Amino acid sequence: MNRHELPPRLAARPFDTRRGLPIPYVSEHNDGSIDFSLINGTRVLDCVRRSLCSACGQPHEPQIAFVGGPGGFRQRRYTDALTHLECAQWSLRLCPYLALERHQRRGHTEQTAAPGFTQMEKADPVILAVTTGCRVELLHEPGYAPTVQFRPAPWIWATRYEYSHGRLTEVGPQPLS
Ligand SMILES: [Zn+2]
Repeated sequence: MNRHELPPRLAARPFDTRRGLPIPYVSEHNDGSIDFSLINGTRVLDCVRRSLCSACGQPHEPQIAFVGGPGGFRQRRYTDALTHLECAQWSLRLCPYLALERHQRRGHTEQTAAPGFTQMEKADPVILAVTTGCRVELLHEPGYAPTVQFRPAPWIWATRYEYSHGRLTEVGPQPLS
């Protein structure tokens, strides 16, 4: 991927030339390091406080998007932060861990795993769902630092992706109930 092919907000991100990927806002860590597979909790809180997209770090639009498996979609409950719709569509296309079925990475707990890494396995199908608002709750689990949980408002629309020949492919509208 050439950064000039990206939409402007993602093209404005720092770019990992080796992987050919824009570096998501929440993948930049406090010590200046980059780790695509870990989420920087400080940045997630920053996104919550300032209503920023977790991928590009720019202010949200009226429509916001969530990416995850069928369980989170049905319950409207996510630990992965929300993004612009455009950024969600591009991350499904770009992120090798989401886009390629066999590309897995291990060793992170659910609390720190980036989208696509939670539960140590890929969600198949992957649902991209859009709404206009969300509540944020702090989740306290014994033995873990508090984590943020996102509770989206009722969905406006959703679309479903499945792995086809090892690659994540949009298959069409996902029923809302
Ligand atoms: Zn964005």
